[in-house]
Amino acid sequence: MKAKSDIKTICVHEGELKDRRYKGVVSPLYLSSAYAFDGVDEKRYPRYFNTPNQEALAQKLAALEGGESALIFGSGMAAISTALLSQLKQGDHVVFQNDIYGGTRNFIKREFPRLGIEYSFTEGLTVENFASLIHSHTKGLYLESPSNPLLKLVDLESVAQMAQNHGVWTMIDNTFASPVNQNPLALGIDIVLHSATKYLGGHSDISAGVVVSSKAVMQSVINSARNYGGNLSEMMVWLLERSIKTLALRVHAQNENALQMAQFLDQHPLVTAVHYPGLKNHPDHILAQKQMNGFGGMLSFELHSEVDTLRFCEHLEMIKPAMSLAGVESTVIVPRLASHALLTEEERLEQGIGASLIRFSSGIEAQEDLQQDINQAICKSKNEN
Ligand SMILES: *Cc1c(COP(=O)(O)O)cnc(C)c1O
Repeated sequence: MKAKSDIKTICVHEGELKDRRYKGVVSPLYLSSAYAFDGVDEKRYPRYFNTPNQEALAQKLAALEGGESALIFGSGMAAISTALLSQLKQGDHVVFQNDIYGGTRNFIKREFPRLGIEYSFTEGLTVENFASLIHSHTKGLYLESPSNPLLKLVDLESVAQMAQNHGVWTMIDNTFASPVNQNPLALGIDIVLHSATKYLGGHSDISAGVVVSSKAVMQSVINSARNYGGNLSEMMVWLLERSIKTLALRVHAQNENALQMAQFLDQHPLVTAVHYPGLKNHPDHILAQKQMNGFGGMLSFELHSEVDTLRFCEHLEMIKPAMSLAGVESTVIVPRLASHALLTEEERLEQGIGASLIRFSSGIEAQEDLQQDINQAICKSKNEN
């Protein structure tokens, strides 16, 4: 695995605003929404994405992903929708990975037909699955790896290479990995997206999104972004900078907890399957070692038919059943009822999302406490007959 030695320092210092007057050690917060004209320079304005705090944090995010430029949005979906629409027009076609985030899927299915933008979903995650759908109007490929909720991987370097050969762009939702565990730009992917509501925020109290790419691509994203107006408030930009200072520490702890939890569940007699790229029996384990810096804090598992899935969630005492993920507190959801509830039963089964599947998001609690909670909830949820 590639070690990125300076990531902890980037998290703490990159982009920070210097307080030259009072010498405070954290970036000052500039709440001003009006800035005096400064010669011929473009004026600063929140919706132009160029206030001091926005530019400072964007610099940190670009550095974290190894990109030239970044923009911060009010939600992951604001980042995703703006990035997609900035690269597309009527008549264009995009290939989407089949098991992408539910909100992205809903966005495409509702908005694209009205705009005359065509799309296809892949059948699987191989390079051939993507390549076979490219035709003369295809402009780009959209990926999400590791995927939700089964943690399947796409070979990013191979797909990026194939896309370059076809002259189409590649975009990836890198939310599940976080910039600590995976840097797709280095593997040849063109545009990286994040729901910063997840690992970047990390405390389940910020809604934000990020796009990172080259300067040239980001110029086209910002041209659209200024029209759609999805900028994040200054206050939240500042809070997100504060959160990212501990990103590497948090994610390393979450990786470790997820690996230990996966190993524990893998041995558990009432768990029939565990999906975690860090396990040697995961079909993409070798690929994960190659293209990721860490295996991530997310995993999913399937409970034995003797265990009632909903009762299991109700019996958890410390781990919270919650829709969101990646916070310092561990959470679980039943994808069939939450993240993938808007899909049809057929779509869910196509993606391998059954009734007994639980998605687990590792927090930073003590591993013994997490295992104890899971174990007691499984014991209390066994069907009597
Ligand atoms: C949460 C999430 C999103 C959407 O982000 P919001 O901040 O809720 O808009 C997109 N992709 C993935 C993988 C997510 O987990």
